[in-house]
Amino acid sequence: MSTLPTVAWIGLGIMGSPMAENLLKAGYSVSGFTLERAKLDRLTAAGGRAADSIADAVRDADVVITMVPASPQVEAIAYGPDGILAHARPGTLLIDMSSITPRTSIELAAAGLEKGLRVLDAPVSGGEAGAVEAALSIMVGGEQADFDSALPLLEAVGRTIVRCGPHGSGQTVKAANQLIVAINIQACAEAVVFLERSGVDLRAALDVLNGGLAGSTVLTRKKDNFLNRDFGPGFRIDLHHKDLGIVTDAARAVGAPLPVGAVVTQLVASLRAQGDGGLDHSALLRSVERLAGRQV
Ligand code: NAD
Repeated sequence: MSTLPTVAWIGLGIMGSPMAENLLKAGYSVSGFTLERAKLDRLTAAGGRAADSIADAVRDADVVITMVPASPQVEAIAYGPDGILAHARPGTLLIDMSSITPRTSIELAAAGLEKGLRVLDAPVSGGEAGAVEAALSIMVGGEQADFDSALPLLEAVGRTIVRCGPHGSGQTVKAANQLIVAINIQACAEAVVFLERSGVDLRAALDVLNGGLAGSTVLTRKKDNFLNRDFGPGFRIDLHHKDLGIVTDAARAVGAPLPVGAVVTQLVASLRAQGDGGLDHSALLRSVERLAGRQV
């Protein structure tokens, strides 16, 4: 008999599917629920159980993990009549790994506490590749004791796992992460257009740049997207638009100016307005190309 906690996983998308599969590989039993039938079939094929509803998934779980797009979806799956708070057992550990507003995480922790649930916010960074490779960075907000009991499970899906402070602070750190990533992608995209216009071998240039101070995980992970103009997601522009809204609001609330962040926020909004919201965020290159007069 496994002594590992039983897990319910809600939200089996680009990130949730490979993360849940890593838990299965580590020996956890996982019941999953998500909106797409094909994703449930994928979970079953990997050895998990496809639940009929959120209630069915969470009823017998020791740990409930959620990985859905944004605050409205987290609120729907937590507070709805079929939701987690109505059906999870008291004592259950609820780990929300979605990227949402810190305020939503703080409210969820308080509502969970009233039902006897322990709640952590634990958003991640590392993209689809990091999820597949169980190499994610996980930034956690909540009680130390709950972090300690979640750590073995989080180590099955991530590599750098840090408690950042009380409820909501994982989300605040994730918001900063998204600011840095967007600005970094934009900088790379501008360099790509500049290098191509200058007639330099782009692959060679990106290789040598990545070995120096200009190198970054963004450049390592997104280099082929730039080189091949492959903008299949990955991390969708729609989601990055959401995250830049979160960091803009949170920074305004504490009086922290984000001048470069504001520009990138507008460039991401513009990409969305041009119908590119479903593309990977490396598609910021398309907006630089358009600014440079290229038809893309
Ligand atoms: P996704 O759109 O691929 O997946 C979201 C999943 O949530 C879908 O499978 C959908 O069925 C499910 N869902 C939505 N509403 C639901 C509901 N009411 N009940 C049950 N399931 C529901 O999104 P993703 O790319 O996996 O991102 C998930 C979260 O992780 C987001 O907050 C995103 O910002 C964050 N994130 C994504 C990446 C990335 O590279 N894709 C990286 C880090 C963090």
